[in-house]
Amino acid sequence: MTAKIIDGRSLAAAMRKGFAERVAALKEHSVTPGLAVLLIGDDPASAVYVGRKVKACEAVGIKSFAQHLPESISNAELLGRIVELNANPEVHGILVQLPLPPQIDMAQVLETIAVEKDVDGFHLYNVGGLVTGNTVFSPCTPFGVVKLLEHENIPIEGQNVVIVGASNIVGKPMALMLMARDATVSICHAKTRDLAQFTILADILIVAAGVPNLIVPQMVKHGAVVIDVGINRLADGSIAGDVDFEGVSKKASAITPVPGGVGPMTVTMLLENTIKSAEHKAIFEGLELA
Ligand code: NAP
Repeated sequence: MTAKIIDGRSLAAAMRKGFAERVAALKEHSVTPGLAVLLIGDDPASAVYVGRKVKACEAVGIKSFAQHLPESISNAELLGRIVELNANPEVHGILVQLPLPPQIDMAQVLETIAVEKDVDGFHLYNVGGLVTGNTVFSPCTPFGVVKLLEHENIPIEGQNVVIVGASNIVGKPMALMLMARDATVSICHAKTRDLAQFTILADILIVAAGVPNLIVPQMVKHGAVVIDVGINRLADGSIAGDVDFEGVSKKASAITPVPGGVGPMTVTMLLENTIKSAEHKAIFEGLELA
């Protein structure tokens, strides 16, 4: 068997075309969706991610409000910036690029972002909403994975899903989103004993551990769908996921490449959440969108 390659770039491009139309419809009513992106400090990887987000916003007509704040910023000052953005009617989404310097209380920062502008989906309300089904914004990476599965017509209901990685931003919300779609979900992490005994049962295997080559063919069931969320920079400067792509492609029925799989979908879902926020506000204020 040779797996179908799930092309995140082409789905992301198609979705972004649709976004440009939605933004144009909002602009006809003098509403320009706005995303504030706060970058704290000089971490080069964070700067690259923020740059990509700003560029992606511009490409579909979203106005970005990027703020580059010093590494030494105090917790109170950062919270003050967020409060200002909460009150700014031009801003429909607020994103604080993680990780944050040690003097910053991340939980407090995430709770200060207004729920209706929490386009990253990390506010406790949105996290709790994943459990109860009342979330306003789903976190972008797992949301992108769901979109990929849906686009590929991969059934979720009743499937055995195994997620490797239990972080707050990927593994845990991913599990909740797939439970909400009636999958049977197992979550594995660094302390899981004998990872392979879980992964081999997966109809859908989602890997978000940040460990290159963690998943090798012997760990994968014939015909499984394999979603590789991992992004690892190797010694030679190249980017790889967590899955042995060459080997696992021979056993899986479908697989995401790295790069070009989940990555482009993450930023795409950020754009989706920002436009949705602007649409909600416009409708709430009485505009009739086409
Ligand atoms: P994280 O916060 O470091 O969490 C990693 C998770 O993987 C933890 O739950 C950890 O277990 C688990 N883990 C680590 N080593 C393991 C092992 N050997 N076996 C089983 N589980 C293991 O990372 P993250 O933020 O979730 O990101 C995970 C990966 O996805 C990274 O490569 C990151 O760059 C990538 N990522 C990609 C996107 C995208 O858009 N494609 C977005 C976000 C993240 P413990 O909980 O026990 O420590």
